[in-house]
Amino acid sequence: MRQPIKHCRSCGTEVAYRLPPDGDTRERAVCTACETIHYENPLNVVGTVPYWGDKVLLCKRNIEPRWGKWTLPAGFMELGESVAQGAARETVEEAGATFEMEGLLSILSVPRVGQVHLFFLARLTSERFDPGHETIEARLFAEDEIPWDDIAFRTVRETLERYFADRKVGRFNVHTVDID
Ligand SMILES: [Zn+2]
Repeated sequence: MRQPIKHCRSCGTEVAYRLPPDGDTRERAVCTACETIHYENPLNVVGTVPYWGDKVLLCKRNIEPRWGKWTLPAGFMELGESVAQGAARETVEEAGATFEMEGLLSILSVPRVGQVHLFFLARLTSERFDPGHETIEARLFAEDEIPWDDIAFRTVRETLERYFADRKVGRFNVHTVDID
């Protein structure tokens, strides 16, 4: 979970967690000097399931957490971009892949850490990858080659499981998943 806010973003004074006077029912970080109320809301993590034939592209993480584990390309959404743009950007940054974006495959809520993860299908248009500094290696895996015990995040594992299940029946759905 993210660290609680300690100092006011407007004036730098310490904040206190309390109910704002506007009828809000949750305690918020309220500045003890200028009264600014700081709202904390879930962050979006956006990524793709890049596929080539019957194989999926995974990236071996060169960053903590989960250094050396395999993941789908994904990262925090930036201000000023759409979810699909963010997912495409992460796929370029982490894998150096070339691809066509397709539809949404999974939306996973992870309330424990205050995150929502969204994965889009991405049809690879080349087998050549040029991973960035966050990735040790980017390579394609068939379903029976997926390193299930070395997948970095549960949201990635859940998304891969649904991808391969949908593939078998020849139709992709949007999967809504809640992760405790
Ligand atoms: Zn303040």
